Amino acid sequence: MVETLAAFDQVDPIQATDEEIAAAVQDADIPALLGALAMLTGDEALLSDELKPPSPSMTARIAPQGGMTDGQLARAREIATRTLIHYRDAGCPPVQTTSDEWIDRIVHFLIKPGYEDCLDLLRHELNYPQDVGKPEWILSEIGSMAQIKVAVIGSGFAGITAAHRLKQAGLDFTVFEKNSDVGGVWWENTYPGCRLDTPNFAYSLSFAQRQDWPQQFSQQPEILRYIQLIVDRAGLRPHIHLDTEVQQLAFDEASATWLVTARTSSGKLVQERYNFVITAMGLLNRPSIPDFEGASNFRGEIIHSARWRSDISLEGKRVALIGTGASAFQIGPEIYQQVKTLAVFQRHPPWMLPTPNYHDDLKPGMKWLLRHVPYYGRWFRFWQVWIGVEGRLHLVEVDPNWKHPVSVSAANEALRQECLATMAQQFARRPDLLEKATPSYPPGAKRMLRDNGTWPEMLMSPNVNLVTESISHLSKHAIHTKDGQRHAVDVIICATGFKAADFLYPLKITGTAGQDLHDYWAGDCRAYKGITVPGFPNFFMTSGPNTGVVVNGSAIFFSECQVEYILRAIRHTIVNRHRTIDCKPAPFESYNHYIDQGNTTKAWAVAKVSSWYKNRAGRAAQTWPFGLLEYWNLTAKFSPESYSFA
Ligand code: NAP
Repeated sequence: MVETLAAFDQVDPIQATDEEIAAAVQDADIPALLGALAMLTGDEALLSDELKPPSPSMTARIAPQGGMTDGQLARAREIATRTLIHYRDAGCPPVQTTSDEWIDRIVHFLIKPGYEDCLDLLRHELNYPQDVGKPEWILSEIGSMAQIKVAVIGSGFAGITAAHRLKQAGLDFTVFEKNSDVGGVWWENTYPGCRLDTPNFAYSLSFAQRQDWPQQFSQQPEILRYIQLIVDRAGLRPHIHLDTEVQQLAFDEASATWLVTARTSSGKLVQERYNFVITAMGLLNRPSIPDFEGASNFRGEIIHSARWRSDISLEGKRVALIGTGASAFQIGPEIYQQVKTLAVFQRHPPWMLPTPNYHDDLKPGMKWLLRHVPYYGRWFRFWQVWIGVEGRLHLVEVDPNWKHPVSVSAANEALRQECLATMAQQFARRPDLLEKATPSYPPGAKRMLRDNGTWPEMLMSPNVNLVTESISHLSKHAIHTKDGQRHAVDVIICATGFKAADFLYPLKITGTAGQDLHDYWAGDCRAYKGITVPGFPNFFMTSGPNTGVVVNGSAIFFSECQVEYILRAIRHTIVNRHRTIDCKPAPFESYNHYIDQGNTTKAWAVAKVSSWYKNRAGRAAQTWPFGLLEYWNLTAKFSPESYSFA
């Protein structure tokens, strides 16, 4: 039998004893369980005021159980256990379709007062009972030009989201993928320790809500498998051309089509015309390898984190790890015990967010509940999304009246102190390392990293050396630093990040009058809503300029918003019998002004520290500076007045 996306919601009937149920409930995330059980039973008692989670704002840590008191938790567990026993005794009947009013009642119970504006966004994320993000139209019903063909470039999360929605709308589409399988960065990054560093349930697609993630921060193979499952269950494989890299996109004004030129891995040139193009090429995927002086003399191996070489053994080797960003942070702790020596080359130490459960499996009772309680996974995902709506944005806002050499506001200082206190404990026996590992820039100015103590443990290991001197050059068997030290190494791991500033590079894209997109940007990529650029008709981007969230929400939420907006734009164009849609310059300019203003109020803009958030001109060209609701509102409705049509 062919599985569909509905398979993600399947649960098993309960056959446990009363005691086993009670034990599982002890491990539960309670607010989400109350939501799921309320949906199952319609019982008002599960949503009583006395059980409402207060949801305090995030600091470095997230309050467990929505900040519920011990008394609230005890009462909630008692009611939940009773409800589940009753559900088992009734033979685990299927969930009746729940009314919108009742769903809203549960949502109101879970969220804080004052956030009612987020209701539509949150309904979208729960995606129940109907598929909220599904296009409100299908091509055959709206009447159309002879044939509409859409090219999607990339098959990571954004690409398969676009493919799924295009399929739902009944459009003819092709997904071009340069790699030999789907998955994007989750296919490309296979380095040791690769895993999610944002909460996993929220980092999943609203239309494919997997119930049984094994961890809060799952490992790369698990996420790749999820993407592959979606592709199969949504029936997208026949539309995907693997091993085919798009090299050029050229807009032809006469036919109002894009000529897509691609090359297969066997060297075959493919040229096809499409009415619309959607790029889903991601942002952090073109490795940046520093051009070290003397690199050609080096006789050992140089590996980039995102091009891992499983054929190279690190066992007993002298290894250098260059960089201390998110990738290095996962690789180092995973390899230091197998190598002879590990030299970690650090320019700017990262701020670490204390996350004790970072590597943990979900507790057994939690796993059991996710496997047996209908829609518990959905409500747990909802709960994580809700927490991310506010996220840590308030902690990185710049207060112009705050005078401090490092932090940017009182809240930012409190976050800094919280992180420093944890670090002081972790490095208690090595004050020298504490000093080297303490950032001198405000938290949030660069990506903050999840830490459960493994990074400090690694740095304190006798075979690990934290090098803070800059690299001067490489020689046959060593890295030399500017203080004259020679660090003998056999393997160099460059966890040195990506060419984020060269967005859509190396794809050559020419719009109207032969305008080249990279020339137009001149190293400073901008877009309207992160999606369209004037002079590039029928061309849409996902993960585009200034759509990266770094302290709130997930990239997946953004790409879903973008894809749904793009589908609305395509619909509007088709329905009105236009051949082209092109962003007007005025809204493009004013939108970018709004974005730039927003970014100047954030820690990452004021801090003089390097990061992939900023481009060569020093402009924060990747970061979304506002809340999730602002982006939702910008994309939930198509804005035809911002475009010219022909
Ligand atoms: P990155 O954050 O850009 O970090 C690159 C590191 O290399 C930085 O420490 C940088 O130092 C250092 N570096 C760069 N050039 C150097 C040079 N010439 N000499 C010495 N050091 C150099 O890259 P990344 O760690 O690959 O992470 C990129 C982004 O990918 C993350 O922020 C995250 O958004 C995403 N990511 C996500 C996950 C996940 O979810 N699991 C995992 C990995 C990555 P400076 O700090 O001084 O610039």
